[in-house]
Amino acid sequence: MSSHQDLITGLIHHPYQPPDSWDAVPPGVFKASTVIFPSVAALRSRVYSAKTGYTYGLRGTPTTFLLEERLATLEGGTHCILSPSGLAGVMTVNLGLLKSGDEVLLPSNVYGPSSDMAASVLAGWGITHQLYDPMNPADLAARISARTRLVWVEAPGSVTMEFPDLTGLIAAARAKGVLVALDNTWGAGLAFRPFDLGVDISMHALTKYPSGGADVLMGAVITRDEALHLRMLKVHGQLGLGVAANDAEFILRALPSMPLRYHAHDASARELAAFLGRQAVVKQVLHPALPGSPGHAHWAATCTAAAGLFSVMLDPALPGTKVDAFVDALRLFKIGYSWGGPVSLVVPYDLNAMRTDRSALPGHLVRFSIGLEAVADLQADLAQALVALA
Ligand SMILES: *Cc1c(COP(=O)(O)O)cnc(C)c1O
Repeated sequence: MSSHQDLITGLIHHPYQPPDSWDAVPPGVFKASTVIFPSVAALRSRVYSAKTGYTYGLRGTPTTFLLEERLATLEGGTHCILSPSGLAGVMTVNLGLLKSGDEVLLPSNVYGPSSDMAASVLAGWGITHQLYDPMNPADLAARISARTRLVWVEAPGSVTMEFPDLTGLIAAARAKGVLVALDNTWGAGLAFRPFDLGVDISMHALTKYPSGGADVLMGAVITRDEALHLRMLKVHGQLGLGVAANDAEFILRALPSMPLRYHAHDASARELAAFLGRQAVVKQVLHPALPGSPGHAHWAATCTAAAGLFSVMLDPALPGTKVDAFVDALRLFKIGYSWGGPVSLVVPYDLNAMRTDRSALPGHLVRFSIGLEAVADLQADLAQALVALA
């Protein structure tokens, strides 16, 4: 063997093994497609769905298993599946639990891309859906049929922020033996205990508070039911929905500070929502923790915290151009989707295009996601931009 030959193979099959006594604050970041088995017997006996061994990078690594366990603990579940976005988590639930001929029920204020998915992808595969009134459990109960296999609940509703009677909605579904999946992105495992309320599945867009950096897209599907978990895990693996190790690393790094960040976002948001509520052009503040907001009593009965999101309804008499000028005049608030990061965000929404019945909310809706800036600076920014509405 030439020395060159020894070198190139030696660089790959080098005998040195570092000592195994390493211990440090951050967990290790393990990256792999191939997982090496010690023997043919090990290759043949390992089962990917049991977390007792490793089979292939897509099926999990020490890094992703660790994140899954921590997220299951956060939400009060026992099993967790990571997906490459929150929306992929929604898809994992839908495709794991629904088949052609089934029906799924969604709240009319569900996260927009979730209803788009039902109306296009699911419909194309013969899975029908209906929208129910999230503020009326009797409406949900009346829509459940022999074909209904899954009910999604979300608290509060997307953009319009109504907080539903979760207990009533879950009871209506359970009374007819239908599974309940919660989109728990807003609650984040911190505002209330989803499994104590009786949901079967909690889906969490880690893109928001668990990431906290506006830099990672990821989702988690958590349950206490092993059979449900295995049904969803099978589809998840077949669709190839793995997550990258460095993305998991970012979430693991940010999770310990999430409770502190969540409560800071919450405190600032309540203060700024109250400030805006005192402005004459603001006809209504939609923040579940503030009295007068739709579903406030349900929020108070269910939650101990409230995230950093709220919307306001501006005077319907204002021309839309002025509302746009107000949003454009904000300096610290950046215009953009998503939430949970350090930078405050703002988006004007066209409710006419989003809701079939919007009679309860006349006017222009503007949604704010409150970041981690000093609240006095954010209030000053809102005050200077409000001049555009005068
Ligand atoms: C952001 C979000 C999602 C989707 O998460 P992505 O990671 O952006 O795909 C789902 N539900 C809610 C309520 C969200 O806010």
